[in-house]
Amino acid sequence: MSDVPARGNNFVAKIIEEDLSNGKVERVITRFPPEPNGYLHVGHAKSICLNFGVAQQFGGGCNLRFDDTNPEKENQEFIDAIKDDVQWLGFNWEGEVHYASDYFDQLFQWAVHLIEQGNAYVCDLSPEQARQYRGTLTEAGQNSPYRDRSVEENLELFEKMRAGEFDEGACVLRAKIDMASSNMNLRDPIIYRIRKAHHHQTGDKWCIYPTYDFTHGQSDAIEGVTHSICTLEFEDHRPLYEWFIANLPVPCEPKQYEFGRLNMDYTVTSKRKLKGLVDNAVVTGWSDPRMPTISGMRRRGFTPSSIRNFCEMIGVTRSDGLVDIAMLEHAVRDDLNKNAPRAMCVINPVKVVIENLPQDHLEQLAAPYHHELELGSREMPFTRELYIDREDFKEEYSKKFKKKFTPGNRIRLRHSYVLEATGFDKNEQGDVTEIRAVLIENTLGVDPEDGIKPKGVVHWVSATHSVEAELRLYQRLFNHPTPDKSEDDYLVHVNPDSLVVAKGWVEPALAQVTPESSFQFEREGYYVADRYDHTADAPVFNLTIGLREDKELAKG
Ligand code: ATP
Ligand code: MG
Repeated sequence: MSDVPARGNNFVAKIIEEDLSNGKVERVITRFPPEPNGYLHVGHAKSICLNFGVAQQFGGGCNLRFDDTNPEKENQEFIDAIKDDVQWLGFNWEGEVHYASDYFDQLFQWAVHLIEQGNAYVCDLSPEQARQYRGTLTEAGQNSPYRDRSVEENLELFEKMRAGEFDEGACVLRAKIDMASSNMNLRDPIIYRIRKAHHHQTGDKWCIYPTYDFTHGQSDAIEGVTHSICTLEFEDHRPLYEWFIANLPVPCEPKQYEFGRLNMDYTVTSKRKLKGLVDNAVVTGWSDPRMPTISGMRRRGFTPSSIRNFCEMIGVTRSDGLVDIAMLEHAVRDDLNKNAPRAMCVINPVKVVIENLPQDHLEQLAAPYHHELELGSREMPFTRELYIDREDFKEEYSKKFKKKFTPGNRIRLRHSYVLEATGFDKNEQGDVTEIRAVLIENTLGVDPEDGIKPKGVVHWVSATHSVEAELRLYQRLFNHPTPDKSEDDYLVHVNPDSLVVAKGWVEPALAQVTPESSFQFEREGYYVADRYDHTADAPVFNLTIGLREDKELAKG
């Protein structure tokens, strides 16, 4: 059920539905166009769910295209991580992966075409001069003194730019549009600049690179994209997008639509700021479980369906908003509550010795992994010495603690027998060091024959057969609701307790699970075997999320 991507009922879906029904478009083609200069984050997940989601919904296709026009900041590690993340989220792109750099030859020819039509020129203004000529929001710009160069001169200079005859920054190619336009993007925007940089796809073939604006729409057109869906900050670029499409012999005319980007409290979603967390070693890397990256959320134990459900919950609108992180946490908890197998881990142990069992008692109790779903079962070794949680035992019975284990009272061990406490030992500090108990016979799955019922049910593991595990207890990375909107640097607001390393004793079956297996540790929380560090000999589990919402809120 949760593996089927949700059906969008948003404004983009409505536009597509209309375009299909009135025959404007035959088959919808969208694209997801990441720049490979960092890992994808939860905001990208929204864009992925939208682009792949609507394509799927209407029987179309979605391309994965790397928008790779800034070679200095991009690399193969990011490309590989992005492909991995999209697939892990449950989406498949149509055909091969595309790169904007696949189109550099075509884009170069189209730049030449613009020059030939008198629609582009080589400009030698320095960046500082260009800024002055550009004007302001309230003042028209001025024409560059190089604007009226002849077609022949422009063609010659552009060819020299390409041949590497000029230094970086010496000149640029600009579209000739309107220096007085109220839209700054139309004031003769740069379309090619000199960058003597090695490119991860094209190597050293080029020393001039097209700008984002000159690349994006034309790449859409080459790929036959029908609906080019981007975030609102590109709304002002749309007239330029359309100008290029109108002034170039492109094979089709894609249309751009904008939606509001995802912003979430207690989170930063700018790649530059995420890189800052990595570079300053605030986290261990882009995939640290505290990062809002897709690979970080994955390592934390968030499931693909929970992230897709979250994207469905927040919807797609034409305005920017701030989403409550509790919605994401809710989506994760809800999915794990429904689907995660249950198992046992004791985090704060106290030993229980069952005095009416022999020293070497060993009984394997079959315990199902889930109370409703068919998730199989495992064997839990039941022995004379056990661990239960310290909080489940009280020295004296009281109404306040009436469900607790106390001397003279009984408790049921989950999936096991009923015990009755008979006494306990304490150390000098007054801590209980050992509880003595007797096992009530014939109580496996049934109430005691004498009619004296246990007070409650507790989780437990064998003291002699459990395995010590490292528990990485994660909380929100920031302790400020809008860490990058306050006066201080966002790094000041990092939550010092975002990672606490603790120990837990897990049942032996848990040591054997494969990395990335998720569980509800009964009465403790949702945990996942760490993707990279978990082994049978040294189990490592990450806290994905607590069992209840109020706990998170208290921390926030
Ligand atoms: P950042 O600002 O984090 O660097 P970006 O927009 O530069 O992000 P790209 O790799 O260019 O990152 O983004 C690829 C696609 O994902 C774009 O279509 C972009 O609009 C979309 N996207 C990026 N951030 C968000 C967000 N927070 N919410 C929704 N969509 C987003
Ligand atoms: Mg971008």
